[in-house]
Amino acid sequence: MKNRIFSLMLLMVSAMSFAQQSEAIPAIGLATKANSNFERIEFERYPVGDSDIEIEILYAGICHSDFMVKNGPNQVIPGHEIVGKVTAVGNDVKDFKVGDYAGVGCMVNSCGECKYCEAGKEQYCAKGTVFTYGFPDRFHGGEITQGGYSNIITVSDEFAINVPKGADIKRTAPLMCAGITTWSPIKFSEVEKGDVVGVAGFGGLGHMAVQYLVDLGAEVTVFDITDEKASDAKRLGAVDYVNVKSTEDFSALSDKFDFIISTIPADYDPMMYVKMLKMDGGELAIVGLPANSSIPVSPLVMQSAHRKVYGSLIGGIPETQEMLDYSIKHNIYPEVEVIKAEPTEVDEAYKNIDEGKVKFRYVIDMQTIK
Ligand SMILES: [Zn+2]
Ligand SMILES: [Zn+2]
Repeated sequence: MKNRIFSLMLLMVSAMSFAQQSEAIPAIGLATKANSNFERIEFERYPVGDSDIEIEILYAGICHSDFMVKNGPNQVIPGHEIVGKVTAVGNDVKDFKVGDYAGVGCMVNSCGECKYCEAGKEQYCAKGTVFTYGFPDRFHGGEITQGGYSNIITVSDEFAINVPKGADIKRTAPLMCAGITTWSPIKFSEVEKGDVVGVAGFGGLGHMAVQYLVDLGAEVTVFDITDEKASDAKRLGAVDYVNVKSTEDFSALSDKFDFIISTIPADYDPMMYVKMLKMDGGELAIVGLPANSSIPVSPLVMQSAHRKVYGSLIGGIPETQEMLDYSIKHNIYPEVEVIKAEPTEVDEAYKNIDEGKVKFRYVIDMQTIK
């Protein structure tokens, strides 16, 4: 009898702790898919595991790559520029406590064992990075990840970034993608004081690149396709601005630059920028993702004169922490326009981005979601 009561109690205790661990967290988000407007949906986040944290999302930036969801057949909640307040931590979590501010960027998990993960470049994980939205999460039964246009997120503590004290929270969110995407190649190319550098494409990414480069003491030229952005570029510290649409002769710019970062999201000819680099080592870092542009091999062989071209995707977790610490310390932030978390407002923001009417970054105030 004693034994039976004991095992019954054991059963109850294990059932209770099981119930606690497996309790999914109810959440609200703004979801969209191809050819449809945003819609408020209710869904569930996975429960906080031993090494997970739960974040109440305060702000989510709208990144141009969020538009990919707009082209897909499945309804997904976009958003990979996330900042919020930690509301629960798992038993094994050491780097976060309830009440801290935390950020989540473009990825939420990876294998942690391959050479890329070991090098802190989780975005290139050999077994597949789990990106923040629209990806099957093999660590949680293959459920499709849902992004930051929502009120809450659970994430492995290893993929959350500590937001330094004193950060301007609403302007911190876009650093999680726009910040790190430009920071990473600037550091990789070891840009330093006095370098002559270019930023091609002056939008969400480009205006971050300009700020980092100016802060490092480089001499920055901005390239874009309109005259309208010239005053903003100069205000952020660029010494020169080139409207490539109205310029016919680029010969004065050839062999001039130590480094150019291309954030251009539309089709263009990369060789135009390659030729502007200094021969024997000038570097073109490509971070923008146009649909159809490619690098032509023959011109590269015939004309590049040992100039270098490489691509770069966001940045790893250690580097993202480094970027965030640096940005807050140096008061480097995106310029943002805050909107409410209402489907119609987000639809309107997407329309404006699509029509090129937004200068830099929209940020959604996720506390206003109802
Ligand atoms: Zn992004
Ligand atoms: Zn890996």
